[in-house]
Amino acid sequence: MSVKDMPIPLSADGLVPLIPGVIFQFYRSSSGHMKFPYLEGGGNALGHIDRVQLAHDAGGLLEPLTGSEYPRVMSAIERSARWMLPLTTRFRLPTPNAKSQWIAVSANPAPASDGVLWTGMMMDITDQVIEEQRLRRLCDTDALTGLPNRRKLMKHLSHLASLSARHGTPLSIMMIDIDHFKLINDRWGHLQGDEVLRQLATKMKALLRCEDMVARLGGEEFMVALPLTSLQQCHKLADQLRKAVSQHDFSVGTGEVTLSIGVTEYRCGEPLKNLIERTDQALYSAKDVGRDCVCLLS
Ligand code: GH3
Ligand code: MG
Ligand code: MG
Repeated sequence: MSVKDMPIPLSADGLVPLIPGVIFQFYRSSSGHMKFPYLEGGGNALGHIDRVQLAHDAGGLLEPLTGSEYPRVMSAIERSARWMLPLTTRFRLPTPNAKSQWIAVSANPAPASDGVLWTGMMMDITDQVIEEQRLRRLCDTDALTGLPNRRKLMKHLSHLASLSARHGTPLSIMMIDIDHFKLINDRWGHLQGDEVLRQLATKMKALLRCEDMVARLGGEEFMVALPLTSLQQCHKLADQLRKAVSQHDFSVGTGEVTLSIGVTEYRCGEPLKNLIERTDQALYSAKDVGRDCVCLLS
C-alpha cells in the first residue's frame, strides 16, 4: 500500500486508540481523592485495568502496587504537586498472569479547582526494563566465575559501611589470593587454571554464609564482605575457608590449591580506600609468613 492510500485518521479521536500507550488526565483533590477523568489509548499499557472504574477512583491502578512501588509512586506525585514539577516515574504493575508489567509515567501538573490535575502519558516499558536489568547484571558480574565483580562489590561494600556506621554494627572483609597460581597455570595449562578459578568460586560460595558477598576482584584475587561480623569471627571463618580449600581437589590434586587471606574490620567512618589498603597489607603479611594462612590487621 502506498503512503497515499493509507487510511489517515482525520481527528484526534481516531488517532488516540492507535497510540502505543495511554494519554490521561489524573486528578488529586485537596482531601487526597484520586481519579483519572480522562484515560484513552492503545498498546499494552494497562490492558487489564478497568478504565471506567478509574474515572471515579484511581485505586484500581494504585492499590495493586506492591512493596516499595506504592510509597515511591505516591511520593513522586506528592513532590510533583508540591513544587508543580513534571511527574516522571516508573512502576511495576502486577498483572493477572503473574508477570509484572513496567509502566513509565510522564505528566505535567497544573492547579485545578480544589486540587491538582496532571496531563500526560503512560507507556509499557517492560522490554526496556528487562534489557536494562540484563545489562546491569552483565556490568556487575565476572564472566569467568559468575561471581559479582569488583564494581558490584565496591557498591555493596559502600552500602554495608554506611549501615555499619549508622547502626554501630561490625563489618569485616577478607582479601583472598591463590598461592603460586602461576605454577598451576604452568603445570596444567591456562584452561585448567580457569577451571580451578570456577570451581573455587563455587566452593567459596558454598562455604560462606549467604549474607556474605564473595567477589572476584580480578586474576586470582577475591574479596568477601561480611556484614555483622567482628574481626575475630571473620578470622575464624577465613581459617575454616582456607582449611577446606587446602583439603579439596580442584581437579589438579588435593592440596595443590591453597589460599592466603588478609582480614580486617571496618572502622566507623573510615574511607573504604583505607579499609582495603589495610586488608591488602594483611594479605601481604600472609604471603610473607609462608602462604596458606590467614593474617589479620586490627
Ligand atoms: P603468589 O602466591 O605470590 O600470589 O603467586 P602467584 O603465582 O599466584 O601470583 P602472580 O601474581 O605471580 O601470578 C598470578 C597468576 O594468575 C598469573 C596469571 O597468569 C594468572 N591469572 C590471572 N588471571 C587469570 C585467569 O583468568 N585465568 C588463569 N588461568 N590464570 C590467570
Ligand atoms: Mg595475586
Ligand atoms: Mg597469587
